[in-house]
Amino acid sequence: MSPSRFDRRTLIKSGLALAGGVAAMTAFPAVAEAYSWPSSLKSGSTGAAVKELQIRVAGWAADGPQQTYVSVDGDFGPGTTAALKRFQAANHLTANGIADADDFAALDALESADGSTAHFEWSEFMSKDGTGFGGGKVAEATVKENVRRLMYKLEALRLKAGGRSITISSGFRSIAHNQSVGGASNSMHVYGTAADAYVNGLSTRQVYVLAEACGFSGLERYTLSDAHQHVDSRVEYAYGSQSWWWESGTVS
Ligand code: ZN
Repeated sequence: MSPSRFDRRTLIKSGLALAGGVAAMTAFPAVAEAYSWPSSLKSGSTGAAVKELQIRVAGWAADGPQQTYVSVDGDFGPGTTAALKRFQAANHLTANGIADADDFAALDALESADGSTAHFEWSEFMSKDGTGFGGGKVAEATVKENVRRLMYKLEALRLKAGGRSITISSGFRSIAHNQSVGGASNSMHVYGTAADAYVNGLSTRQVYVLAEACGFSGLERYTLSDAHQHVDSRVEYAYGSQSWWWESGTVS
């Protein structure tokens, strides 16, 4: 087949799949359809495409430390406009808060063929006891969707960190695995909305500061033997309402 039929990230992903010895090769590589965006989305737009846009710009919730987030509600309001403008500016696009073809291309470039994002793999977030995305406090499909949303926030964190690579030491945990590592019983790790991350070349404090503008409602630094930054999104179905836990408050 001609490489021109497939974009660069698809080829990269296929290469990784081969290198990783992934079985079940079929006649054609599994190429996810890029999201079917409308011609434009702007303030006042509503519906499923707005929801998808909100998921993808959620990591651009604020300019600086602020306990705020982009609601994934399909309603294109001021919060979505502001986050989109920040995404556009960071990606050298016209920062007008209106999503059109150039913006959708930039958003699509962040998506991998298997539905993960450009710089993260599903496997990095799977429970380390081998249950994949199963065995948590919500259904497997919900966990996977939560992980996908987490990945887009982490893509924003990565860009804010100057494109430094991010290593995930713990993503989703099954209830059993969470117990075995001594995690809190209401840990966001059992919902798939949390990650323990190291950003190459940055201290946990520096990561915490960057994460304060990425729409994360849970932030906790671990500075002892296993230094990492915990980030999460506290889901209402776990807490009953939107809640915040920024262990160190605002540090920047
Ligand atoms: Zn954690």
